[in-house]
Parts: sequence; C-alpha cells; structure tokens
Amino acid sequence: MSVSERMLETRERIENACRRAGRAPSEVTLLAVSKTKPVLLLKEAYDAGQREFGENKVQEILEKAPQLPDDIEWHMIGHLQRNKVRQVIEHASLIHSVDSFRLAEEINIQALKRKLVKDVLIEVNAAGELSKFGVSIEDTLPLVQQISELKGLRVKGLMTVAPYVVASEENRPVFRKIKQLAVDIAKENIDNVSMDVLSMGMSGDYETAIEEGATIVRVGTGIFGERVYSR
Ligand SMILES: *Cc1c(COP(=O)(O)O)cnc(C)c1O
Repeated sequence: MSVSERMLETRERIENACRRAGRAPSEVTLLAVSKTKPVLLLKEAYDAGQREFGENKVQEILEKAPQLPDDIEWHMIGHLQRNKVRQVIEHASLIHSVDSFRLAEEINIQALKRKLVKDVLIEVNAAGELSKFGVSIEDTLPLVQQISELKGLRVKGLMTVAPYVVASEENRPVFRKIKQLAVDIAKENIDNVSMDVLSMGMSGDYETAIEEGATIVRVGTGIFGERVYSR
C-alpha cells in the first residue's frame, strides 16, 4: 500500500473509532510520525492532505523542515535535551515531551528571548516503566503547578507513550488513567494551564486511545510502514 492509501485507511479507522465513542472526528488530530522516513514519503503524505508531522529528534526536524512546504506543523514528540531547546523552539508548534522542571525552565528562557509562548504537553509515564521517559502519575500535578508560573510556556495537556502490547485492549486502562488525570488536573483551575489536549495512541492502539479520549494520535508505522534503523 502507498502512503496515501495508508493515510486514507487510517483516517477511516479514526472516524470509526470516533463514531463508536460518540465523538466528532474533528476532535482528533492525526499526527503523522515521520521519524527515520525520507522527505519524499512526507511529501506524499502532504499531498494527501497531511499537515501535522511528528519527529522524535531535533536534528530531523531541522533537516526536513526546509525541504517541505512551510504550512506544515512540526511536533516534537521525543525526549528533548535542554541544550537542543534553542534549536527547535521556533520549529516545533507543540512540544509533547516536557517531563522535568529544568527542561520547562530552559524552554521558558528560550521562548521569552524570542517573545514567544510555547505550547507544551507534560509527558506522563503512565505504566511506570523504567525504560521510558515521563513523569509519574503522582508527580504530574505538582510539576504542572510549578510550570504554570513560567510565562514563556503554556501547558495544554498530557502525552503518554503506552507500553508495547499485542492487543490494544491491554492499554485501555492506561489511556483511562491519563484521561482521569487530565480531568483531575483541569479541576484545579490552574492559571495558564488547560487540559484540552491528550496525545495518546500509536499505530497499534490509537483506536482504543480515541475511545478513551485521545485528541492527538501519533501514527508512524500505520502511515509510513515499518521503520528500518541502520546502525
Ligand atoms: C515512533 C513514535 C510513535 C509512532 O509509533 P508507531 O508505532 O510507528 O505508530 C509515536 N509516539 C512516539 C513518541 C514515537 O517515538
């Protein structure tokens, strides 16, 4: 299948999941995760109407962005090192992976320098996996409260990378937990913080994530095919 055919199929599956959940398809943004994929394939997705792309490395955004139309929105979905913030801040419309106050402080400094307010999500390690980045469920509210004091960024919601599972159903409790956490944090009415965005669900489990409230699904393999990592 071509990229455009896979995109059509993915959009259809998103719409069906929305229907099952009684949600409007317009509530869910499909983020095409294009890491490791050549610009040619991104262009194919672009031509099929895709405008939001996710990358997990700053370097890849910097390399690809100039080669593609500038109405693309780039989302930074991978772990972000503080020394890379400066390079990516003007290119990323949303940073999904804020998981420490130190990182938030650096984004704040770089944003204020450029008179920007940067939209971010807090990455939550919902299943407590040691191999994963993200703040624990318990530490999320205190971190959000701390970050809300920083004028150069705005917390828009939460992001999670659920465990790799064979059956997407296994991740339903994870997505439910993140949704509940967002509801609980929203109830605190913290200045400068909203919980409207829930970035959860990947190729293997995005339909389940949508049923549980995802507003951004991050689909890589489902659109671009398997990734091949050299080295
Ligand atoms: C690679 C990646 C994805 C996409 O994974 P697929 O299983 O290929 O859909 C989603 N989110 C993050 C954070 C990723 O790094």
